[in-house]
Amino acid sequence: MKSLHVDHVCEKCHGTLVLDREVDLLIGMTWCVSLCINCGRRTKVEKEPKPMTAS
Ligand SMILES: [Zn+2]
Repeated sequence: MKSLHVDHVCEKCHGTLVLDREVDLLIGMTWCVSLCINCGRRTKVEKEPKPMTAS
């Protein structure tokens, strides 16, 4: 069984991860990322970006 696994601890510094949304205005895409509030490391959560217009 596959499930989306999200670590809530940064693998680099073991800081706290929060979910954030990254937006690329140039291509009009958005995707979820996990952001480390300690070192600022961003890791993509979703494999594929979504169009900003899709809602
Ligand atoms: Zn970190």
